[in-house]
Amino acid sequence: MSKFIFVTGGVVSSLGKGIACASIGKLLEVRGLKTSIIKCDPYLNVDPGTMNPFQHGEVYVTDDGAETDLDLGHYERFTNAHINKDSNITTGKIYYSVITKERKGAYLGKTVQIIPHITDEIKRNIKKISRERDVDVTIVEIGGTVGDIESLPFLEAIRQLRWELGESYALNIHVTLLPFIRAAGEQKTKPTQHSVGRLREIGIAPDILLCRTEKHMTKDQRDKIALFCNVDRESVIDAVDVKHIYEVPISFKKEGLDDLILKKLNLKREDKDLKEWRNLVVKRLRSPEKEVKIFVVGKYVALPDAYKSIYEALVHGGIANDARVIIQKVDSETLEKGKSLNQLTNADGILIPGGFGDRGVEGKIKAVQFARENNIPYFGICLGMQIAAIEYARNVCKLKGANSTEFDKGTKNPIISLLEEQKSVKNLGATMRLGSYPCKLTKSSFSFKAYKKENITERHRHRYEFNNKYKSVLSKKGMLFTGVNSSQNLVEIIELKDHPWFVACQFHPEFKSKPDKAHPLFKNFIEAALERRASLKK
Ligand code: GLN
Repeated sequence: MSKFIFVTGGVVSSLGKGIACASIGKLLEVRGLKTSIIKCDPYLNVDPGTMNPFQHGEVYVTDDGAETDLDLGHYERFTNAHINKDSNITTGKIYYSVITKERKGAYLGKTVQIIPHITDEIKRNIKKISRERDVDVTIVEIGGTVGDIESLPFLEAIRQLRWELGESYALNIHVTLLPFIRAAGEQKTKPTQHSVGRLREIGIAPDILLCRTEKHMTKDQRDKIALFCNVDRESVIDAVDVKHIYEVPISFKKEGLDDLILKKLNLKREDKDLKEWRNLVVKRLRSPEKEVKIFVVGKYVALPDAYKSIYEALVHGGIANDARVIIQKVDSETLEKGKSLNQLTNADGILIPGGFGDRGVEGKIKAVQFARENNIPYFGICLGMQIAAIEYARNVCKLKGANSTEFDKGTKNPIISLLEEQKSVKNLGATMRLGSYPCKLTKSSFSFKAYKKENITERHRHRYEFNNKYKSVLSKKGMLFTGVNSSQNLVEIIELKDHPWFVACQFHPEFKSKPDKAHPLFKNFIEAALERRASLKK
C-alpha cells in the first residue's frame, strides 16, 4: 500500500486546500513519486451533480463519467494523477453504500453505527484507491473546516488510519490561516492555535502546518506557532499569497515543503527543481507579451467557481499564445434587453459555456448572433453549441420558433431535443450523457487544425442533443458539422465557413486543459481572438 498524506483545513473555508493538495502532488511528482489524490466531501449528496452551481461551483467531470467536486480539476491540471469516480468520496456515497449493505443483511445482528461502520467504509474507500493504483503517495483532502459536525466521521477515519499505518507511513498536514488585522497591523496566530487545539481534541496531531498569510510570517510568529501547536519549527510553512495559483508549487518548493514531506515519510528521491513549470507556465503568466479580451456570456458569472475550468482553460490558451487573457463576465440575462449588446463590440472573442434551464437563454442567442454577424471569434461549449445551432436555425434558416425542447417543450422546430434513451429517465442524479466519448473530425475544419488529428475523445455532461432531422437544412445554409460520434450518429461539433473562427462543441474541452498543455481548441480560440485584436489595431 502507498504512504498517505491527510490534509485538513482550519479557521475558515476557501483557504485553497485543493490547490495546496494539487501543488503537493506536483512537487512529489517532480521528485519522481507516483501520486494519487482523493477529495472527501462531507455532504449528503451522493455527488454534486444535482447541486446548483451557486451552491457548489462547477461540477467537474472525469473520463469515466463521474460528476465530482471542482478540486479534482485542480488535481488534474497540476498533476498526472489518475483521477476517476473513486477519487471523490462524499458522505452521501458512504451512507448509501452502508445502508445498501445493511438492507442486504451484511451487518446481520449488529447495530449499524457511525463508528465503526461509516468510518470503516471511509477507510475502505481510501485504501482501495491506493491499492489499485500502485502509487507511492496518496494525498487525501478532507473538505470543510475542522470543527464542522459534518466532517467528524472523515476526521475519525484518518485518525484511525494514521494510527494503523504508523509515523513514516502517514502524515497530517493542516492548512490554516494567519489573519492580518489591519487595525493592529499584525498577523495573528491565535485562530491557528485554536484550530490545532480542535484537531488535537479529536486525536489528530498535525505534522506540518501550512499557514496561509498575506505577508511573510516573522521568526517570532513561527516560533510561537511551533511551540503552541506542538510541531517543530521547520514544519511551520509560510504559505504566503501568490499572484497566481500556478505559482503555489514554486512557493512551497522555496519553503522546502517537498524535502520535509520526503523526510517525514522516510522516502528518498533525488532533488529536482521546477524549471520546466517555471518557464512554461509561471514566467508567461507573469510577463506575457500580448493581451486579449474574452467575453464569457453565462448565467452564473457572479460566482468565480461556477465556470472554474473554463476560466482556467482560457488562461492556459493565453499561456500557449504568450498572452494575458482578460476575462469579461457578462450575465446573459442582461443581454436580453437590446442596448447592452453593444458592449460585445469590445470583445476579441466570445465564449458561451454550458448551462441548464431557460433563464438567460434568449440573451445568449443574441450574443451568438452578434459574434456571427460581426465576425468575432466564437467558442460555444455544450449549451453554447446548442444555442449556436438554435440561433442559426432561427436567423439564417428562418425556422420559426426554433428552440431546444429543454426550453420549449412544444416548439415546432426542435433543433435540440432528447435522445430516445433520455426520454424515460426519471431520476436526475448521474443520468445525463456523462464522461468520455469518441468524436471524428472533418479534415480541413477549424477543429482538425487545432487537434491535428482525426480521432479524439472528450468529456460530456448533457441530456439534450442536436436533432439530426435538421442537419440538411442547416448545412444547406452553410453550417458545417465537423465532429461526429459515428457509432451513435451524434453531432459533436458545428462550425461556420465564412467566419474567422466559429467552433461550438457538445462536449466540455475545458476539463482536459492544463497550464503547460493548453487544450487545442482553447489555444486556437485565443489565437483567433489575438488575430482579431491585431487586425482592429491596424
Ligand atoms: N442543458 C443542456 C443539456 O442538458 C446543456 C448542458 C450543458 O451545457 N452542460 O443538454
